Amino acid sequence: MDLLLFGPPGAGKGTQAKLLIEELGIPQLSTGDMMRAERASGSDLGKRFAEYMTQGLLVPDELVLELMEKVLSSDAAAKGAIFDGFPRTAPQAEALDAILAKLGRKIDRVVAIEVDLNVIIDRVTGRRVCKSCGQTYHLRYDPPPSDGVCTACGGEIYQRADDTEEKVRTRDSEYQAKTSAVLEHYDAKGVVVRIDGVGELPEVTDRIRAAIASK
Ligand SMILES: [Zn+2]
Repeated sequence: MDLLLFGPPGAGKGTQAKLLIEELGIPQLSTGDMMRAERASGSDLGKRFAEYMTQGLLVPDELVLELMEKVLSSDAAAKGAIFDGFPRTAPQAEALDAILAKLGRKIDRVVAIEVDLNVIIDRVTGRRVCKSCGQTYHLRYDPPPSDGVCTACGGEIYQRADDTEEKVRTRDSEYQAKTSAVLEHYDAKGVVVRIDGVGELPEVTDRIRAAIASK
């Protein structure tokens, strides 16, 4: 099972991906993590990554794809993978399809979690976070104590600078721009299932499960 999971910032994609990794027994392939691991391994490919990464340059697609092929051919990803942060463009999607085809695989399902922008704005602008332990609260749904002290660890609760409506709108536009080409690519193959990301976590997980099981 090779899967792509899409979700706008604030849609809980990370949490859902973690649940799926456990349930399906397949790894999540984050290109950033993969490149760092390869670099740390000291392999020739890793050294080539280092040349770009130490200069803060974007690693070229060919190198990322070489690594992707290596990892997808490994035992760890033999049963499939959930891709994270890749592909981002139609050419990357085509290249990934070609690698998977060599292994007799394909992207089986693209699950796009959709959340109304106003719902995300409500979630994010109401969010308060503990500076010490990261515990999150919401002004209305899970209010922090009135003294602003974290119930879990006694740390200071604050609002992150990124948790504003303006930042949410900017991130959403970036997300739409970044994902539209890849969604179009897989829409043409009929493997995209869009699900409603509004609701309790287990409900959304159930919708994702149904989307994966659907043909
Ligand atoms: Zn805390």
